[in-house]
Amino acid sequence: MIDPLPILQSTFGFPGFRGVQESVVSRVLAGENTLAVMPTGAGKSLCYQLPAVVLEGTCVVVSPLIALMHDQLRAATAIGIRAATLTSVDTDQMETIARFRRGELDLLYVAPERASGGAFRDLLSQAKLALFAIDEAHCVSEWGHDFRPDYRLLRPLLDAFPHVPRLALTATADAHTRADILEQLGIPHDGMIVAGFDRPNIQYRISPKDNVTRQIADLVAEQPGPGIVYVQSRAGTEKLAEALAKTGRKVRAYHAGLDPAVRARNQADFVASEDMIICATVAFGMGIDKPDVRFVAHAGLPKSIEGYYQETGRAGRDGDPSIAHLFWGADDFAKARQRIGEVELHRQAGERTRLTALGALVETSGCRRRILLKHFGDDAPANCGNCDNCLNPPAAIDATEVARKFLSAVFRTGQSFGVGYIESILTGQSTERSLMNGHEALSVFGIASSPEEAALIKPVSRALLLRDALRANDFGGLEFGPEARAILKGEAEVSLIVAPKRERRRRGAQVA
Ligand code: ADP
Ligand code: ZN
Repeated sequence: MIDPLPILQSTFGFPGFRGVQESVVSRVLAGENTLAVMPTGAGKSLCYQLPAVVLEGTCVVVSPLIALMHDQLRAATAIGIRAATLTSVDTDQMETIARFRRGELDLLYVAPERASGGAFRDLLSQAKLALFAIDEAHCVSEWGHDFRPDYRLLRPLLDAFPHVPRLALTATADAHTRADILEQLGIPHDGMIVAGFDRPNIQYRISPKDNVTRQIADLVAEQPGPGIVYVQSRAGTEKLAEALAKTGRKVRAYHAGLDPAVRARNQADFVASEDMIICATVAFGMGIDKPDVRFVAHAGLPKSIEGYYQETGRAGRDGDPSIAHLFWGADDFAKARQRIGEVELHRQAGERTRLTALGALVETSGCRRRILLKHFGDDAPANCGNCDNCLNPPAAIDATEVARKFLSAVFRTGQSFGVGYIESILTGQSTERSLMNGHEALSVFGIASSPEEAALIKPVSRALLLRDALRANDFGGLEFGPEARAILKGEAEVSLIVAPKRERRRRGAQVA
C-alpha cells in the first residue's frame, strides 16, 4: 500500500494525521468500505481528498448542498487538487464531463439527485473510479435529522461498481442512524470508525428563558470574544441584533432572507473580527472556518441534539475555553410537538424520540456533557466539571402538590386559559376577568397563595408543558396532554430543578 504521509505533508501541508483520520484513510486505501463518524471540525474532507490524490482514478463525492460543494471545490483547487463540481448551476458541465472521461479529475462533486440517475451511472462507467465518498451520510436515514430521499437511491449506483470502495461520512448520527447508514449503504458493521465527540473546552449551560434578550446580554457582557447567537426566526435575528447593539458590542444579523451582498459582508466581517456577535438562523455556520468563536448561544430550542451539538461545536475550535449557552422555553416544546403532528406519519416516531432526547438534556440535574456524549455512543464520566450542573449542582424540589393544583385549576376553568390567568386564580388575585367568569367561587381560587407555592407556579407550568401534561392551543390556552392524568391521580411526581442562587448573576448592560 502507498504511504500517504508524504502527500499529507506536501499537498495538504499538515505535519501528521489528526485523531481517527489515519485509520479511516488506511481503510480506504486498502479498498474497504467504511463509515466515518467524526464531529464537525475533525477533518472529514481530508479522509477522502487524500485517497483521491493518492489513488488512480476519480473519487466521486456525493454532497447535499451546492454551496458546500463549491466551498470544497475552491479549497481543493487552491492546494492543486484536480477537482470539479457537476451541478445545475455549473456552466462548465461539458468540460467537466470531458475531463472526467480523460481521467483528469481527482475529485468529482455531485448532488444525490444526479448521482442516482441512469445517465450518471453510464458516465461513471466510462473512466476509472477510485472511491465513492458519501458526505453527510445521515441524510440516507429516516431516523436521521435531515432525511433526503435521494440518498436512498444511491445504493444501486454503488452496487453497480462493486470494486470501488465506499466511504460514508457524517458528523451527527445516533446509534440508530448509524446502524441505518451501514445497512442502507452496504457497509459492514466493523467498518465503522467513530471519533471521540468530547469537546472538553466547551462549557455547556442550559437555562429556562426568562427575558432571553437580557439573558443573552448578560452572557455577552461576560464574554468579550466573538460569538454566535442562534435565533429561530429571521425577524428575530434582526430584533435581537438591534437590542444587543445597545450593549456597545459590534453586532450583525445573518439569515437567508438578507440581500446576498449584505449577508456575505456580515459573514466576512464576523470571520475577520475578534469581538463581533452575529445573530443568525441555523443557515449560518456551515463551511465557516473561524477557530476563535468564544461562545454560541441558542435563543430557543434547537431542532435536535444533533443540531445542538453541531451548532455549539462551532465554539472554541482553537481549543481555548468557550461557552455554549442554551435558553429554552416551555412553548418551544409545545410548538415542536405541534410540528411533529404535522409531519408524515411514518416519521413521527423518530421526531418524537429526538424531542424526548432534547427534553432529557434540558431537564437533567446531572451532567450535560454526559448526556450529550452518551447520545453519540461515547463513554463519559458522571461529572465533567465543566457544565453548569457540575459547576453549580442544582437542587431538586418536589413540586407535585403545586402541579396538581395547577392542573385542577386548568380543568376547573375549562382548559382554555393561559399561564398568567391560571396563576392569578391559584394565588387568589381578584380581577375583572375572574369576577366575570365566576372563577372566584371555584375551590382552586387562592389555594396556592403562600409565597413559596406562588413562586413555583410558573416553573411548574413549564415542567408540565415539557412533560406533555399540558399543551398550549393556538391562542395560548392550556389544555390537558396525555401525561396529566397520572399526575392528578398521584401516580407521577413532578420535581423542579432550582438553579443555585449565584447563577442569577448581576445584570449586564441594561437592554429593553
Ligand atoms: P469537517 O468537515 O470534519 O468539519 P474539515 O474537513 O472542514 O472538517 O476540517 C476542519 C479543519 O481542520 C480545516 O481547517 C482543515 O484544514 C483542518 N485539518 C484537517 N486535517 C488536519 C490535519 N491532519 N492536521 C491539521 N489540520 C487539519
Ligand atoms: Zn458536566
